[in-house]
Amino acid sequence: MSAFRSLLLLFFLALWGCRSNTETTRSKPLIVATTSILADGIQQLVGDQAEVVSLMPPGVDPHLYKASVRDLDLLTQADLVVYHGLYLEGKMTEIFEKLALSQPLIDVSQGIPQQKLIRSGPEAHSVDPHVWFDISLWSAALAYASEELQAWQPTWKPSLQQNTATYLQQLAALDQRTRRQVAELVRNKQVLVTAHDAFAYFGKAYGIPVYSLQGLSTLSEPGLRDLTTLIQVIQTYRVKAIFAEQTISPKALQAVARGAAEKNQVVKLAGPLYTDSLDAANTPAGTYLGMFEANLTLIYTQLLP
Ligand SMILES: [Zn+2]
Repeated sequence: MSAFRSLLLLFFLALWGCRSNTETTRSKPLIVATTSILADGIQQLVGDQAEVVSLMPPGVDPHLYKASVRDLDLLTQADLVVYHGLYLEGKMTEIFEKLALSQPLIDVSQGIPQQKLIRSGPEAHSVDPHVWFDISLWSAALAYASEELQAWQPTWKPSLQQNTATYLQQLAALDQRTRRQVAELVRNKQVLVTAHDAFAYFGKAYGIPVYSLQGLSTLSEPGLRDLTTLIQVIQTYRVKAIFAEQTISPKALQAVARGAAEKNQVVKLAGPLYTDSLDAANTPAGTYLGMFEANLTLIYTQLLP
């Protein structure tokens, strides 16, 4: 973060004490969650007791996201800030550290057992942050968030507990359906090929091999070697379809599909999958459950022979 941005952040944090204008006009506490995926999860838990706002609009890539001046204003106005952690919001780490000095924050990744995390190296930022693609891990993250919310607003405890139990049941039902459908794909020797490495938890939880063009983050551009490797995978497994992602340009995967076609393996570029963001509000994939189901249905229908 540049010195200018740091100064701006300090300026907005200093405004923390003078935020009564917006506070007095609001009837409910304001919870700001970083992504649309997380905002939906927190909304399911708190129901109508709080106003839950997503900092990043749908379709935005959280790996690359930098907070704007307006965002800093919103964050400092929030009564509670909830974020994914595990460096998903890689460019906002310093902001969370500063916010933690003056207001309550929940890092939902704290609810996930360390041994369940997928790592590509020993460094802290080499942990795969895409835990929401293993429904049981996302359930653990939200159960932890629920505990933290109960500690923050003790009077909400009964409704939080009930909402959490209801939502976790819905998640468990989707987990079962995912298990059944992916098992069918695996029996048919299918593999999942995507743009960036968002599906490692999905692959591990549901038992399907996953290959992708980019690494855990979208920060680095894929190189020629990545393209060649992926084309080999497509040939080896006679892959029928590869999947674009909503927050990433499909150009590199189009090049992969062309490369595979030149080697006589025609592959369809399907999608997009919703990976790091929900679709717009009030659309079928505008909730976590809807987004997950949309992805599952697309993968299942495109890959089943
Ligand atoms: Zn991602």
